[in-house]
Amino acid sequence: MLKLHNTLTGKKTKFESIQKGKVKMYTCGPTVYDYAHIGNLCAYIHADTLRRHLIVSGYEVLHIVNITDVGHLTEDDLNQADSGEDKILKAALKEHKTSEEIANFYTERFFEDIKKLNITKASYYPRATAHVQQMIEIIKILLQKNLAYEKNGNVFYDVEKFSEYGKLSKKKIEDLKHGARLEKHPDKKHSYDFALWLKAPKNHILKWESPWSLGYPGWHIECSAMSMEYLGETLDIHTGGEDHIFPHHENEIAQSEGCTGKPFANFWFHNRFLLVDSQKMSKSKGNFYILEDVIKKGFTPMEFRMLVISSHYRSSLNFTWRGMKQAKKNLQKISRFVETLNNLKENNNISSENTDLSLDTYQKELFKAMDDDLNTPKALGLLFELISRSNEKISKKSLSKAQIEKLLSLWNKFNKIIGLEINTKNTEIPFEVLELAKKRQAARKDKDFKKADELRVLIEESGFEIEDNKDDFSLSAN
Ligand code: AMP
Ligand code: ZN
Repeated sequence: MLKLHNTLTGKKTKFESIQKGKVKMYTCGPTVYDYAHIGNLCAYIHADTLRRHLIVSGYEVLHIVNITDVGHLTEDDLNQADSGEDKILKAALKEHKTSEEIANFYTERFFEDIKKLNITKASYYPRATAHVQQMIEIIKILLQKNLAYEKNGNVFYDVEKFSEYGKLSKKKIEDLKHGARLEKHPDKKHSYDFALWLKAPKNHILKWESPWSLGYPGWHIECSAMSMEYLGETLDIHTGGEDHIFPHHENEIAQSEGCTGKPFANFWFHNRFLLVDSQKMSKSKGNFYILEDVIKKGFTPMEFRMLVISSHYRSSLNFTWRGMKQAKKNLQKISRFVETLNNLKENNNISSENTDLSLDTYQKELFKAMDDDLNTPKALGLLFELISRSNEKISKKSLSKAQIEKLLSLWNKFNKIIGLEINTKNTEIPFEVLELAKKRQAARKDKDFKKADELRVLIEESGFEIEDNKDDFSLSAN
């Protein structure tokens, strides 16, 4: 029986779906104006673990992840009136591309990242720009219900009219009044009201016809529109990082519940933030990483996944290169173990006696830990304990064929939840090989192809194969 912490109730409670055996799950997806950073990817890995656990528990999961390909104006941007920048447009201007080109490029990069991380593909990835009409329909209802107001072609949500505002983030409107730092938008009644629709300034490229103005939607409305379109009025689970609790998810609730009069999401699953060297990631601090940075340091995406699941989703994960080295070791330990089991399985010359390994108890405890609000660190601790105990038996040649098969089946079942792709052949790339590959990349950059070829031979002689990508390379064991 799965128990999940629910941000809405602040408690860990038994998970029950609305429809028996089916789960409707929504995850706020990327704003595609840049590469996803490792914090974003950490949020998608946790959502994937949840989804995988639901599937292993027998549910069918309909999972929607939206692609934000317009806007994403924060209220801070907006409060500075027309100077608010659309991040996609800003990137388009900087890179001399159209916003569509920018959005398509970074959407593809996002798909590549999640594939590398073995994150299960969502059932559907709807794009915001294809759902503006649905957003307009919700805004019309909110206006009819007097939960929103229009002024000069801009529409805002009238937060005070939604009596349950603050129920997710536990914020009170009174506190928001005192918390307002910036000058409010001239058309807003209160600084804490938020935009549903904005009139486009003259030079704004992405804009749509609406009953109020030629304009574009506010940041939050797209998730209300797309979740309703694909999952209906009430979701089983909504996921995201803790930064989205307020204002984004609070505002999604106000919009959706204001519109339908029904609960928006029964369970709110929020992961804590990933920090780098105990600090918030930021480009200016030089501690901002994307997956490619991790790969360039000689780690694999799977090692990053290993690091993420080693910490509970409700604890903040401190990313360090030391931590990555430990994750590498841990993944190697698992890989070697599975490889040994596979080799032993083929070997007939092994014990026929069943020595005590308490495999049924381990299996029960592993799944019990996962059922307990996805306690991945506890489950991994049990797995490593089991590996050590089994390795001891293996060294004494006292594991039976039946136990080996049972261990493999236990691993395969557990791995359906934690989603590690393990390479049972030579997972470690030696430092010297990595250095050769880097030298070869530099030679290729200098168009010194003779030297690059010589280095390829050296890499191959060391038992590795090198594959060139656009500005990078990947190494694999021969
Ligand atoms: P965004 O593209 O900013 O909407 O973020 C995509 C997802 O990543 C959201 O669920 C965020 O809450 C989450 N997120 C952003 N930064 C971090 C971080 N440092 N650690 C964990 N999750 C994050
Ligand atoms: Zn959202």
